[in-house]
Amino acid sequence: MEQAILPESSWQRIREFAADKQTPCLVVDREVIRGKYQELREVFPFASVYYAVKANPDQAVIGCLEEMGSNFDIASVYELDKLLSLGVSADRMSYGNTIKKAREIEYAYNKGIRMFATDSESDLRNVAKYAPGSKLYVRILTEGTETADWPLSRKFGCQADMAIELIVLAKELGLEAVGISFHVGSQQRDIGAWDAAIAKVRFIFDRVAEHGIKLRLINMGGGLPALYSSRSHEIDAYGAAIRRFLDEDFGEEQPEIIIEPGRSLVGESGVLVSEVVLISRKSRDSLYRWVYLDVGLFGGLIESLGEAIKYPLYCDKAGDGVEEEEVVLAGPTCDSMDILYEDHRYSLPQTLEAGDRLYWLSTGAYTTSYSSVEFNGFPPLKTYVI
Ligand SMILES: *Cc1c(COP(=O)(O)O)cnc(C)c1O
Repeated sequence: MEQAILPESSWQRIREFAADKQTPCLVVDREVIRGKYQELREVFPFASVYYAVKANPDQAVIGCLEEMGSNFDIASVYELDKLLSLGVSADRMSYGNTIKKAREIEYAYNKGIRMFATDSESDLRNVAKYAPGSKLYVRILTEGTETADWPLSRKFGCQADMAIELIVLAKELGLEAVGISFHVGSQQRDIGAWDAAIAKVRFIFDRVAEHGIKLRLINMGGGLPALYSSRSHEIDAYGAAIRRFLDEDFGEEQPEIIIEPGRSLVGESGVLVSEVVLISRKSRDSLYRWVYLDVGLFGGLIESLGEAIKYPLYCDKAGDGVEEEEVVLAGPTCDSMDILYEDHRYSLPQTLEAGDRLYWLSTGAYTTSYSSVEFNGFPPLKTYVI
């Protein structure tokens, strides 16, 4: 059963809580986040955790992770302000976005941020000028993004040669050049992607050492998986392999390690509860029924774009001996792009009808933060954190 992603107690709790709520809504169980955080600490005892706030910026989620002792990877001054207002101190945050305005750097610096990512000379010069003396790490490009279900493509990071130049320049400009960061692509199914990235970092560490600079930090970003419909390795397989890659490349002289989990930390904690609005056929003899829901690409399921992420789906009417048929799933808006799954066919009971609820599992990450504000008048996805 798909809901096996959640502990039975949590699934029951979420179901009961949602019973009298209007759909669509996302119900997030803090207990699951706590469990995931513990698990990450156990699997990566050698790393500090910086939660990637963008995955789920709900204040109760942030509060829960703050209590657990997490640090935070922020991407904007807005996330910064939000965290400050929730009582998270600036020394527990890293400004991980390489794309920022000079005045945003200055603002962050004035609020106490002392750790920044960069991947270009102009941003680096801004950091040196507006956040003098701060810790800086340089983000590099990584290969193998085609094995990630949600690749972060070529947008971030620079080539190794440029990273070396930037580290040297950072030092000249009075910054504390601490290390290198990368992100192997979100929901990365190939553990080997970390091997290649870590080897590249080793190469850069050696090259900058020739300039008399000793780097000491690797920020490995995100990429660890959450459980969806497609198979992926367990998180401990990632931990063991990454430990081995680090040992192979760094031996006795291990660098400090940061991980920035988003999806793997909060993904499985959420269930998006939706309702069937309409079921139709496009002609009397068409093979497939179209099932339109009250949630679609713009209401929180944007990662279904290109059918990249396939969320496990649960329906009350399903069960042993119930006849099912393959359907096309689509959202409620007037944009024809708002089709969730057409190539990948979900099977749903033939008895499915308007008003039935469908539960989307593993929707705790990248749903609410992506949902539109007022497209066709639909409000943003409501979250409840229990
Ligand atoms: C989005 C992002 C993350 C989180 O990635 P996941 O794959 O969701 O864990 C971490 N670090 C940075 C810099 C990011 O942009």
